[in-house]
Amino acid sequence: MKKLGLNQHWLILISFLIAIPTGLLFGEHLQFLEHIGTAFIRLLKMIIVPLVTFSIINALARFEQSAELRRIGWKTLGYFMISSLAAIMVGLILFNFINPGLNVDLPVGNGAELSLQVNRPEGLIEILVNIIPSNPIQALAEMNMLSIIFFAVLFGIALTKVSPQMKENFLGFSESIYEVMIVITNWVIALIPIGIFGLVIKAINQTDVSFFKSVFWYIITLGSALLIIFFIIQPLFLYLFTRKSPILHLRQMGEAVITALATSSSLATMPVSMKCVEQNAKVPKKITNFIIPLGATINMDASAAFEAVGALFIAQVLGFELGFTQQFIVVMTALLASIGAAGVPSAGIVVIFIVIEAIGIKGSAADFIIGVILAVDRPLDIMRTAINIYGDTIAAVVVSESEK
Ligand code: ASP
Repeated sequence: MKKLGLNQHWLILISFLIAIPTGLLFGEHLQFLEHIGTAFIRLLKMIIVPLVTFSIINALARFEQSAELRRIGWKTLGYFMISSLAAIMVGLILFNFINPGLNVDLPVGNGAELSLQVNRPEGLIEILVNIIPSNPIQALAEMNMLSIIFFAVLFGIALTKVSPQMKENFLGFSESIYEVMIVITNWVIALIPIGIFGLVIKAINQTDVSFFKSVFWYIITLGSALLIIFFIIQPLFLYLFTRKSPILHLRQMGEAVITALATSSSLATMPVSMKCVEQNAKVPKKITNFIIPLGATINMDASAAFEAVGALFIAQVLGFELGFTQQFIVVMTALLASIGAAGVPSAGIVVIFIVIEAIGIKGSAADFIIGVILAVDRPLDIMRTAINIYGDTIAAVVVSESEK
């Protein structure tokens, strides 16, 4: 890449910016390019399971004492919660200000087909219990990230309890796997400029614009909340906790943010954010390797805000007035739902059922509105994913600075 006199991140940005007008103008005729996008996503996904598993095991086993591990673990979880709650509050405030559900004019009637596209999740308790893998190999094979992390965390901690020789034997092997995965990751990363082109064309071809008008205010509410989170809340947190320049950090994370925009998947972006955090922001490897995979799976600031805004929107369209207690329930379940949401495109919508059911809303009318939300979700999902990923990188920097 350097030979062209262009840095990789400029190439990525250029590819992204050219792909948007190209997709809008000629998207239909360029469907063959979607295959490039699909191939690229498959390459990214191919890396995820071994990378997450071994980076977490290695990171945890390399913590010197369990006190250090506990401290970093709690700090990380604490920061994840605070940043997600702050994001939810932004969504809540904007929602109460704009009241997007009061202006909705939905073409009701064809709800049946729309709602079919969304699968209902299990209840909250089932999701929690199912995190424990009854068979870790199956969890790996099915890419069940919460279960993989659960097992990797146990495994990594258990490694610190066996004899030093046993531990080193295993780590010699697992650190080699990890290094090999990093080499493969770098190859895949070199393909980002091409992969992104196909992905953007695909995203544009898949967005259904016919519902845009009726849910205009919903898009404005969530879109503004997301912009405020990205441009004000997250930089503020970064600055307050670390005194680091948010502009510098954004530049360092450029590749990861653009990859998130193009893939709509935190998980698929994870290998890239790992590289940016370690190489550009100089966060120590063991902190990066613990926080980034964990964050890509459970820390989703923007999705948390989306769960709250989406649920409140559904309630408002259906004519429900939510009091303080119910809004509080929305906040808490939105937080949990964002933890449970997978880091893949539009995963946030699947868990929105949990939030609305917690305030007693279900039925075909709600399903229909969720279908419409899904139809216009692509641009919002793109923004959410970039913000989710960006939040993980900030968490890594915040925790690493606090350890100095
Ligand atoms: N696509 C988002 C992500 O991967 C999840 C969501 O739908 O909110 O982070």
